Amino acid sequence: MKDPDHKRIVVTGGAGFLGSHLCDRLVEAGHDVLCVDNFYTGSKENIAHLLQRPNFELLRHDVTFPLYVEVDEIYNLACPASPVHYQSDPVQTTKTSVHGAINLLGLAKRVRARILQASTSEVYGDPDNHPQQESYWGHVNPVGRRACYDEGKRCAETLFMDYHRQHGVDVRIARIFNTYGPRMHPADGRVVSNFISQALAGEPLTLYGEGTQTRSFCYVDDLVEGLIRLMASDAAGTPVNLGNPCETSMRDIASEILQATGSASRIEHRPLPEDDPRQRCPDITLARTLLHWQPAVPLPQGLRLTVAYFVSRYARTQRARAHAPDWQAPDTAAWRAADSR
Ligand code: NAD
Ligand code: UDP
Ligand code: UDP
Repeated sequence: MKDPDHKRIVVTGGAGFLGSHLCDRLVEAGHDVLCVDNFYTGSKENIAHLLQRPNFELLRHDVTFPLYVEVDEIYNLACPASPVHYQSDPVQTTKTSVHGAINLLGLAKRVRARILQASTSEVYGDPDNHPQQESYWGHVNPVGRRACYDEGKRCAETLFMDYHRQHGVDVRIARIFNTYGPRMHPADGRVVSNFISQALAGEPLTLYGEGTQTRSFCYVDDLVEGLIRLMASDAAGTPVNLGNPCETSMRDIASEILQATGSASRIEHRPLPEDDPRQRCPDITLARTLLHWQPAVPLPQGLRLTVAYFVSRYARTQRARAHAPDWQAPDTAAWRAADSR
């Protein structure tokens, strides 16, 4: 007899930052976890410690191709997430969101699995409503450089809702706001990883624009707890914001990181990137009500844990950046050609 509490779970993007922490939690809970990843931005190092576990498997696979496995639950996290990563091959980013969603929804439909989509606060674009509630439709430039990600994720949400309404697929949609923590890639260009790497290396912190734009930063353990609760909840077919409602300006995050690293780095202003959202903060009333969830880790504590990871991983000598692997877009066209043979 099958134990209803023991599940076969697919995590796409499981070798990435969030996915690897999610795999940790699911393996610890005793589920059979299949991590599916093409290593576009993720790495085997993130899940190396799980490879010897009997209830963990790794499959190198691109989600833009069909996937035939037998599972009970699917967490769809596969997608480059930082602007530097997703803008380096924008066509592949849209394909990953859209074709990936179709394939995984087709899989969920066939095996009657529950499926959770890692959506994003980017569906709100540069919002003109604050804080952002799930009912807000967003303000996205459909032809800008961020659109491959924003519109890809919006289309994936549409597909999730339509598979739910048309085919009865049991879907969950998490709108994830900025998340940080150990296993962020030091060269992903995100503000937290950039500032920590720069501060540890004694280099200037590159503050884009005046630094008055805001984000709300959630520690990774809190976010993963939210994803697991959402998957277990009754929140079928309604997007749920997951993020930290404490809004911080980029100027303030620079000060927090200088404090957490004890660095004397100065601040250097750079131009603001195209379509950079000016303000972002989640309204998490729905998550509080439906999931009894809210972030527990305060920013200074989360930053200390993240800095400790960067120090132990990349900065055993003074120059953190010299020891951080540079990120270069892998040749996915060659992989796809090889996979389709
Ligand atoms: P990440 O880049 O560390 O992880 C993404 C993973 O997906 C990587 O391991 C990558 O190799 C894999 N991947 C990319 N394209 C793939 C493909 N075609 N087939 C198979 N695997 C593929 O990013 P992350 O921060 O861990 O983000 C995970 C998910 O959460 C993403 O879907 C992202 O959009 C979403 N999200 C993240 C944040 C955040 O702040 N980190 C915020 C909002 C949404
Ligand atoms: N698919 C998959 N695994 C499955 C079932 C389907 O990857 O176990 C993919 C397949 O590529 C298909 C897509 O999901 O094209 C959508 O499936 P759906 O059943 O909705 O549509 P159809 O098969 O009719 O195209
Ligand atoms: N940012 C910055 N310096 C950096 C990297 C980013 O000032 O070195 C800013 C960026 O312009 C944006 C904010 O920090 O306003 C968050 O950027 P990130 O790429 O981390 O996330 P996203 O823009 O996707 O929310």
